[in-house]
Order: sequence, then C-alpha cells, then structure tokens
Amino acid sequence: MIAENLAEVEKKIEAACQRAGRKRDTVTLIAVSKTKPLPLLEEAYAYGCRDFGENRVQELIWKYEAMPKDIRWHMIGHLQRNKVKYVVGKAFLIHSVDSLSLAQEISRQSVKRQLTTNILIEVNVAGEASKFGLHESGEVIGLVSEAAKLPGISIKGLMTVAPPVKDPEENREYFRALRQLSVDIMQKNIDNVSMAVLSMGMTGDYETAVTEGAAYVRVGTGIFGEREGKRSESEQ
Ligand SMILES: *Cc1c(COP(=O)(O)O)cnc(C)c1O
Repeated sequence: MIAENLAEVEKKIEAACQRAGRKRDTVTLIAVSKTKPLPLLEEAYAYGCRDFGENRVQELIWKYEAMPKDIRWHMIGHLQRNKVKYVVGKAFLIHSVDSLSLAQEISRQSVKRQLTTNILIEVNVAGEASKFGLHESGEVIGLVSEAAKLPGISIKGLMTVAPPVKDPEENREYFRALRQLSVDIMQKNIDNVSMAVLSMGMTGDYETAVTEGAAYVRVGTGIFGEREGKRSESEQ
C-alpha cells in the first residue's frame, strides 16, 4: 500500500518536474509521518524515503530514536521555545520559524551544542487567521535580517502551508508569491542567508508547488493515508 502510494507520488512529481523543465533531483519529497506508527515509516524507508516530516517535538524524538540514523527529520509544525532544546541536533531542518524569539532560542541551543541548525522562515502567504507564520513581506524581511545575525543558525529559505482547496490551481498564486518573496530577499544579499529552499505543497497541491519551484514537498495523506483527528491538527 505505502509502496504503491509512493510510486504514484513519485510519478506525479516526475511529471510536474518535466512540465516545469526541472530536473527531478531538484525536488525532495518529505514523507509526513505524523500520527503514523513505525511499521508504516519502515515501509516508506524500505521504499527509499530518507526525509520524514513530523509536527510534534515528542513524536519526532521517539521516532528519531527508533528509526535508522541516515534519516533526515524535518520539524514542520509550530515549535514552542521551551521545546527547542529537544529538537536541536535531531532535526535536519526546522521549517516553522516565525518569530525572532524562536530563532534566538534555536541559536542559543545550537551554540551550546556547537552545531549549526538549518531553518526556514514560515510565511502565511494567504493571510489565513488560523495559520502560523508571518504574513506581511516587510515582517518576513525584518525577521530574516535579524535572524541572519545570530550564530548557530543558517537560514535556507521559506516555507508555507497553503489553504486546503478543491482545485490546486487556486493555490498557485500563493506558491508564486512565496517564490517572489524569496527572490526579493535574495536580491538584498543579506550575509548568512540563502533562499535556495522553498518548502511548499502538500497532498492536495504538491504538483502545482513543484511547477512553481518547490524544493521540498511535504506529503502525508498521499503516502500514508488519512489521519485520524485530521480536523483538530491546526489547533494544537
Ligand atoms: C500535516 C502536514 C503536511 C502534510 O499534509 P497532507 O495533506 O496529509 O499531505 C504538510 N505540511 C505540514 C506543515 C503539515 O502539518
């Protein structure tokens, strides 16, 4: 089941890359395994997945301990400052940085462990009230400029969670807006800032995101099937 789903997702990413004139290896699929039990992650691993996404610190940590060490764990959910100390050193990339105080805490914990943590700045491109992330591009640029001065962190790009829609084309404008914002920031040539990574696209819209330049797509349902309690996810 997981293998078939992954084959299907792979095929669609490949096709989207072709439509966009992109090389397949410029897009990384993150298997979003939140709420799913280990045997399903093991199936995805056996298929070849090495990038997994989790949105809760505790779950990321116990899965990190239980799974092979060549996996790159992506923290994609809202992160509280008091939990940063647990993920630093375990998360390959933190996608959800949306405040200077959070960036400061990641910096502090990283310096303490003498390592560099890669982060993305979360942008709420659609301006949905229920979502995390910064909305105004001025705020995003302000946060990037300030966070760039902190030791122990490296800004790699931007992340967004687009609204749930029936027709993925409805989200194209948001993916395009995120890409444009990354170009605007790149042109400011801020030291210690890369805008190489756009993390965008989920089960409902990842093909559209790929054609708009996504470097990471985060696919959960399309690989592992529906989650229980899906509706309450954004309210944690
Ligand atoms: C759950 C989640 C996903 C995956 O969602 P699906 O629609 O199941 O693919 C992607 N990104 C974030 C931030 C999530 O919380």
